[in-house]
Amino acid sequence: MNELLGKKALVTGGSRGIGAATAIALAERGADVAITYNASADAAAKVVKEIESLGRRSVALAVDAADAIAVGDGVRRAANSLGGLDILVNNAGIGAIAPIGELTLDDVDRVLAVNVRGVYAATQAAVPLLADGGRLIHLGSCVSGRVTTPGMTLYGMSKSAVTGLSKALARELGPRRITSNVVRPGPINTDMNPADGPFAAVQIANLAIDRFGNSTEIAAAVAYLAGPDAAYITGTELTIDGGHTA
Ligand code: NDP
Repeated sequence: MNELLGKKALVTGGSRGIGAATAIALAERGADVAITYNASADAAAKVVKEIESLGRRSVALAVDAADAIAVGDGVRRAANSLGGLDILVNNAGIGAIAPIGELTLDDVDRVLAVNVRGVYAATQAAVPLLADGGRLIHLGSCVSGRVTTPGMTLYGMSKSAVTGLSKALARELGPRRITSNVVRPGPINTDMNPADGPFAAVQIANLAIDRFGNSTEIAAAVAYLAGPDAAYITGTELTIDGGHTA
C-alpha cells in the first residue's frame, strides 16, 4: 500500500475520530501528513507519533477552523513544513442536533464558521499551493442529501454548502487535474456521534446495515479518493451510510 508515496497531505481536525483515522490511513499508504486540531493537543500529538512510527513525516498545528486567518496561515505552514501540498481533507466539523426552535442565531454563526467558512478558507489557501493532479476531499453528511432526519436543519444546511463548494471547485480546477469530491458519512462511532449515545437507536433504525460505521471505514474511502485510481472522479459525492439513503 504505497500508492501515496511522496504525497503531502493536510487533514483538518485530525486529532480525533474520522480525521485521525484518515490521517493515519493516508500515512499507511505512503503520504506525509499534517493535521490541525482545535483543543486536543495530546490526542493530536499521538496521531503525529503514530504517523512517524509508519516512517512518514507529520506535524500537528493548533488552528481554530472558525478563525479564517489562522486557517489560511495553518495551510501555508503545513505546506512549508511538509515541502508541498497534494491533498487537502476538509474534515474539521461540529454538530448541532436540535429542533429549529431550540437553535439560536449564535449557534448558526458558530456552525457555519467551522463547517462552511473554515472549509472555504482552508480551500482558498490550499488551491494556489496544491500540485497539479492534487485532491480536495470534503466531509459532508448523509443527512444533507435525499433523506434527512428531524433536528438536522443547521447541520444539514452547513453540509449542503460543502457540496456546492466542491462541485464548483471540480469545474474550476479540472484544467489542473485537481479533483474535488465530498464523502458523506452516515452514523460513525466517534466522540461527535457515539454508538451508545442518546440518538444512536433512532439512527440505527433508519439503516439497512444495523450498526454504526467506524472511522476507518470512512478513512479508507478518503484514501481511495486521494489515490491514483480515483484520478477521473470529480464533482461527486461518495455516500457511506450503512444504507441510510437506500
Ligand atoms: P469528532 O467530534 O469526533 O472530531 C472532530 C475533529 O474536528 C477533532 O479532531 C476536532 O479537534 C476537530 N475540530 C472540531 N472543531 C474544530 C475547530 N473549530 N477547529 C479545528 N478543528 C476542530 O468528529 P467526527 O470525527 O465524528 O467528524 C469528522 C467530520 O465528519 C465532521 O466534519 C463531521 O461533521 C463529519 N461527519 C461525522 C459523522 C458522524 O456520525 N460521526 C456523520 C457525518 C459527517 P479537537 O480534538 O481539537 O477538538
